[in-house]
Amino acid sequence: MSRLVVVGAGTMGLGIAYVAAGAGYRVELVEVDPDRATAAEARLGELWDRAVRRGKLAADEAAAHRGRVTLVASLGAVAPEPDVVVEAVPERLELKRAVLRAATGLRPALLGSNTSSISIAELATGLDRPERFVGLHFFNPVWAMALLEVVVGPDTADETTAAAVALAGRLGKDPVVVRDMPGFATSRLGVALGLEAIRMVADGVADPADIDKAMVLGYRHPVGPLELTDMVGLDVRLDIARTLQAAYGDRYAPPPLLERMVADGRLGRKSGQGFYRWEGGEKR
Ligand code: NAD
Repeated sequence: MSRLVVVGAGTMGLGIAYVAAGAGYRVELVEVDPDRATAAEARLGELWDRAVRRGKLAADEAAAHRGRVTLVASLGAVAPEPDVVVEAVPERLELKRAVLRAATGLRPALLGSNTSSISIAELATGLDRPERFVGLHFFNPVWAMALLEVVVGPDTADETTAAAVALAGRLGKDPVVVRDMPGFATSRLGVALGLEAIRMVADGVADPADIDKAMVLGYRHPVGPLELTDMVGLDVRLDIARTLQAAYGDRYAPPPLLERMVADGRLGRKSGQGFYRWEGGEKR
C-alpha cells in the first residue's frame, strides 16, 4: 500500500490526511503538540462519523479509512522511503525549512510543501534532492475543495511535477501548475481581497456581513472575503500577509485590525470568534 506522510495535524494537515486515507494511502500524521494531536484525532473521527451520517460512506468503509491513519509524535518515528511527504506546519520559513530537511532524510519519492505564500526556491535552499521537491498547495476544507496548486520551483524535476499532478488525480483533485512566485496564483489575489475587506471594516464602510454579502451577490463569490478569512484562520492570513509584504511591498501590509484580532486570540472559526461567531465549526 502506498504511504503518505503529513507533517502538522492542524486545519490543513488533518484534511490532507483524511483525503489521502480515503484515496487508499496509509497515512502517518506527524504532530509535535500532544493536545493538537488529540484534537486532530477527535476531529478526524467526527469527519468520518459525519460522512456515514450523510450517507457518503458506509460504516465499514469509514472504519477502513480511519484504520489507515496513524498519529505520530515526530518524523523520527516514521519509516524511511514513503511515497509522499507533505508538510503542513505553520507558515514560517525557518520552521518549514527545518521540517523539510528532516523529511528529506526519509528519502520520500515526492516531497511537498503546503505553503500558501513562501517561494519554493527559498524553502529548497540547502535541501538535499531539491529536484524531488514541489509546492502542493491544498485548499480548505481539503475534502471539499477541488483545486491543488502545484508550484514548480527552479530545481523541481519534470518527473516531480508529473508525480504531483498524478497525486492530484489520485486524491480526486484538479491541479493547476504554476511558476514559483510568492503567493502563487491563488493567495496573491485572495489575500489582497481579504486585506482590503479588513481595511473596509476598520474604515466603517459596512459591517462584515454586508461586505461579504456585497461580494457574494454582486460578484458571485461563493463566500465573502471576511468569512473566508475566518475559515482560513486570521493568524494564518497574517503570516501570509507578512510574507507577501516582504516580497511585494506595503500593498500587503497587514491592517492593524488584523494584528489586533490575532493578538486577542480572535482567530476565526478555529477559536470560535473572528469577524463572525462560530460554534461546532458552523457560523452563528
Ligand atoms: P495550523 O496552525 O492549523 O496547523 C499547523 C500544525 O503544525 C499545528 O498543529 C502545529 O502544532 C503543527 N506543528 C508545528 N511544528 C511542527 C513540527 N515540527 N512537526 C509536526 N507538527 C508541527 O495551520 P494550518 O492552517 O493547517 O496551515 C498549515 C500550512 O498550510 C501553512 O503553511 C498555511 O499557510 C497553509 N495553508 C493553510 C490554509 C488554511 O486555510 N488554513 C490553506 C492552504 C494552505
